[in-house]
Amino acid sequence: TISMAVIDKMGHVAVGTSTNGATFKIPGRVGDGPIAGSSAYADVEVGACGATGDGDIMMRFLPCYQVVESMRLGMEPKLAAKDAISRIARRFPDFVGAVFAIDKNGVHAGACHGWTFQYSVRIPEMDDVEVFTVLP
Ligand code: ASP
Repeated sequence: TISMAVIDKMGHVAVGTSTNGATFKIPGRVGDGPIAGSSAYADVEVGACGATGDGDIMMRFLPCYQVVESMRLGMEPKLAAKDAISRIARRFPDFVGAVFAIDKNGVHAGACHGWTFQYSVRIPEMDDVEVFTVLP
């Protein structure tokens, strides 16, 4: 899954997800990719979130909606991301997944469970992306 958030110079915030779906998925499966709030969510007043991982578990928690709403209430992106992941891990300790969070000012963070997660960031002044590694 590739989730991407973009903030343009006007401050508009957008997010999107592209995915193959789960490995060995059954025909007709609808994963978390098209579920708003699950693998992606954005609000221009707050920021955005993208997710990857075990969509069949993660979609039950709408983790990206959770992250954006937590940031709306004042949580830093890092804590909001960690909180959303731990809500899932408490119920499903074996799940594998990750989220990134970015607020409307460009402060970003990631959180993951069950694997090491990498996400990349690029701002206009940069020639290439910078890769961030998040440990579980
Ligand atoms: N979230 C995707 C799904 O379950 C899989 C992935 O992130 O690679 O469909």
